[in-house]
Amino acid sequence: MPSPTLSIIAPIYNEYENLPELYRRVKEVMENAGETWELVLVDDGSTDGSTERIRELARQDKRVRPVIFARNFGHQLAVTAGLDYSRGDAVVIIDADLQDPPELIPEMLAKWREGYEVVYAVREAREGETWFKKVTAAAFYRLINRITSVNIPVDTGDFRLLDRKVVNVLNRMRERHRFLRGMSVWVGFRQTGVTYKRAPRFAGETKYPLRKMLKFASDAITGFSYLPLQLATYLGFVSAGLSIIAIPIVVALRMTGSQAFHGQATTLIAVLFLGGVQLISLGILGEYVGRLYDEAKGRPLYIVRETPDDFDEA
Ligand code: UDP
Ligand code: MG
Repeated sequence: MPSPTLSIIAPIYNEYENLPELYRRVKEVMENAGETWELVLVDDGSTDGSTERIRELARQDKRVRPVIFARNFGHQLAVTAGLDYSRGDAVVIIDADLQDPPELIPEMLAKWREGYEVVYAVREAREGETWFKKVTAAAFYRLINRITSVNIPVDTGDFRLLDRKVVNVLNRMRERHRFLRGMSVWVGFRQTGVTYKRAPRFAGETKYPLRKMLKFASDAITGFSYLPLQLATYLGFVSAGLSIIAIPIVVALRMTGSQAFHGQATTLIAVLFLGGVQLISLGILGEYVGRLYDEAKGRPLYIVRETPDDFDEA
């Protein structure tokens, strides 16, 4: 089969109910667009029968290419595998829960034809998501832009079109703790956005509990900023400065016979405060050292149990 024009990549983690609808809508959109396409479904260790559904779709339609992981590796690595296995001249990354409407793809394709190499989708509105998710997401994007050197467009997700040139660059960036939205800005190229309304999930529950959201945020920050590390330096200067100011004041107070700052309580507070600052700084250091250790081990980013080739032969 010659390589298709467009590869659509969807990471799948327990999306049993969403799969047929995803396939149906992608197929409809792409048939109307009149382009050749493939749908790369990356099964990220699903346990709800999604895997068998993906195999079934692949048996019915050769354009569906399954990549089945040996276990759950997480959303960003599932998308990475999709990029590795995609063959299209352009690639669209889309969530499997249909929060990102496949109907936006023709608009992205049009921008691509105009010559843009990255077309990201900007969420104009988000429906059916909790206020907690919206507030934390809004705060997260603003924080990332403030402290990192990449300017990630506010309110964009992984839903975007990437030209083959960009995909090839991304595929050579084998960092383990990935923040794809940052990476796809970092590479440069001509970028533009299209806006859309983010729909509620078609079926099922979010696969991003608070724990995964926090990991995602710390991967994004450590991947693109040294600011947390520098924080220890700033805090050190502030406390050193404070103590230098405090020494003559206390000396003067003693000479005038004052009893201020006498006793254990003040000492204890100072010791606990500094202990706290030091432990937090150590913890931040640990976040970076742990990631360094992961990189040094050089393990594969993900492990694939079944590749698209396994299905071509069948
Ligand atoms: N996902 C995944 N692995 C995970 C968690 C999520 O492949 O460990 C997929 C999930 O199936 C979906 C996409 O990532 O296609 C986005 O997840 P979700 O919709 O749960 O995130 P939210 O929209 O709530 O942020
Ligand atoms: Mg979702």
